Amino acid sequence: MLWDDFMNSLHRDWRGDGKVDDQLENPEWIHEWMQRHRLRADRLPDAEQIASLKKLRERLYRMSKAFVDKLMPEDADMDALNERMALGQVIRRLEIAGEGRYILGLVAVDEGWTAIEAEISSSFSQMLAEGEPSRIRFCDNPNCLWVYYDDTRNRSKRYCDDKMCGNLMKVRRFRARKKAEAAAAVSSRESSDDSER
Ligand SMILES: [Zn+2]
Repeated sequence: MLWDDFMNSLHRDWRGDGKVDDQLENPEWIHEWMQRHRLRADRLPDAEQIASLKKLRERLYRMSKAFVDKLMPEDADMDALNERMALGQVIRRLEIAGEGRYILGLVAVDEGWTAIEAEISSSFSQMLAEGEPSRIRFCDNPNCLWVYYDDTRNRSKRYCDDKMCGNLMKVRRFRARKKAEAAAAVSSRESSDDSER
């Protein structure tokens, strides 16, 4: 989806110390992201537009954090999201979705970064309106914090990817347990040494 792909442009080193790589500073990433979501602008964002995109991303993070904490988002964030959407006009358009199936879509009238910000805001809002905000998650790996929508039946998805972060955390828990066991063995040996004296 557009909203989470956009939010995850703030990419953390999930294996290590959580070093942050901001893909909004990476023209190549932006270009690919635009293609993935068919976003139209005749040029890459300039410094001011990048700053504005980052502000929108912060807002989406703050709102997502509220949902993760089972709170309501702040009014100011809701208002700002509505303001962003008001700046991007759309028209209704009927399209063929597959054999015998049609969708009524909203197509952006304008090109450019204001329209793209409206699209991102709309993608997030649509998820809130048609999905369940309580399914928004941050990856349980504290170095990762990838944002995703948990669409599992029993709402049990804890990691962005079980093979990556899930596995890494399992290995870490295992090592921590082994270390604790080794420390306990050492301290019990020390205390038995003491008693021999
Ligand atoms: Zn993760």
